[in-house]
Amino acid sequence: MSSSAMADTIVLYPSHGIGHMISTVELGKLFLKHRPSFSITIFITTGATSPYVNHLIATTSSITFHHLPAVELPPTSTSLSPEELFFEIPRLNNPYVHQALQDISRKSNIVAFFIDFFCNASYQVSSKLGIPTYYFFTTGASTLCHFLHIPTLHETIPKNIKDLHDYIQIPGIPPVYSQDMPKGMFDRESKAYKLILETAIQTGKSSGILVNSFAALESRAVKALSDGLCIPKEQTPPIYCVGPLIASNDGGSQSDEHECLSWLNLQPSKSVVFLCFGSLGLFTAEQYYVSIMKLCLVEELVNVSFLALTGFLKRTKDKGLVVKSWAPQVDVLSHDSVGGFVTHCGWNSVLEAICAGVPMLAWPLYAEQRMNRLFIVEEIKVALGLTESANGFVTAAEFEKRIRELMDSKIGKAVRDQVMAMRNSAKAAIQDGGSSHLAMEKLIESLTKG
Ligand code: UDP
Repeated sequence: MSSSAMADTIVLYPSHGIGHMISTVELGKLFLKHRPSFSITIFITTGATSPYVNHLIATTSSITFHHLPAVELPPTSTSLSPEELFFEIPRLNNPYVHQALQDISRKSNIVAFFIDFFCNASYQVSSKLGIPTYYFFTTGASTLCHFLHIPTLHETIPKNIKDLHDYIQIPGIPPVYSQDMPKGMFDRESKAYKLILETAIQTGKSSGILVNSFAALESRAVKALSDGLCIPKEQTPPIYCVGPLIASNDGGSQSDEHECLSWLNLQPSKSVVFLCFGSLGLFTAEQYYVSIMKLCLVEELVNVSFLALTGFLKRTKDKGLVVKSWAPQVDVLSHDSVGGFVTHCGWNSVLEAICAGVPMLAWPLYAEQRMNRLFIVEEIKVALGLTESANGFVTAAEFEKRIRELMDSKIGKAVRDQVMAMRNSAKAAIQDGGSSHLAMEKLIESLTKG
């Protein structure tokens, strides 16, 4: 079959984290919305499957999910940090990715390969095959400013970030306190640091970068990126802000008759504070006991037997609900009775709260979440911050004070008004002629013009 007679295929390669999977599936659906004639394939790696992801796959028939064979991790992998493992699994997958891309190329015309930054190792495979390779950055434009600036920071900051107790200037974003950077950036000699640096350099040389954000949300960062300020010595690839891409209720959600939604139906409008800390969020027992259990109304990922032992469930029976495992977060956030969201600042959670118009209290835990807190509190102003002690501990008094501020104060009202304004901007961005819609059209035109 000549390539002109073959279907145009887009191949997407997410990292195995649930947050990365959700937005990648939504990106696949967005391509189909813009060009129903496209065929979309998503590579699934070992570790990506969970009941939630299996449900997502089973209910998204418009997309082909290609399961890469399970890779065998070498015995030394037990010494890897979580970040290193996120990079390592795709590296081990390279032979399978090569095979899969070749197989797909025989039957269709791969117009582009979109990879998560954790899948950076696959760049060499796709570029050897002559396939245009783009990065899909599942977090925001402000984080991308930092990410693309990492090679410059590497050259200009001579010491380890962990030893630098100072603010760092990066184009497009407020000054970042060194200790708020992702832990993987702390030590120049660590494997994680080297992998991140290598990936940042490669991303800066790619065919383009898609970002899960919209222009009005992060206007300063988007401008710095499009002005090429974050990669001062070289040309910045085209940047496409195509978001917000958040889990939709048409496939990913397993909310049918979830008990927490029935419980929310009984609560007064805007009275509930929802606490949820992503797919990996964990606290020490002390932190649970001292702060969260004093106030918690809806909680997630909690060791329920621990809570039961302490009498917490009994005490809060009439005013709160604990969801024992996975909560239908998008549905909870869009429920009328929810008036505030305590979040770990994962980017999907941030976008979901914005799209539902729910103001946030930012309690970052891992990865780039401390930087996300800076952006959503200081720059976008859709969240309030919490003051932590040096070891990250939040006292019950501080937690209570901030919850009250969020739910019942002038400061909280300003945040609520701003989140509603951003919600409207998000809606406008994805409508025909909106900024994200136009960015997607521009991208597709550039993919198909050759
Ligand atoms: N999520 C959910 N129910 C839960 C926990 C998480 O639906 O009980 C979803 C949440 O809506 C979001 C994703 O899981 O879409 C978590 O992504 P995020 O980027 O916020 O955090 P991560 O888990 O990647 O740290």
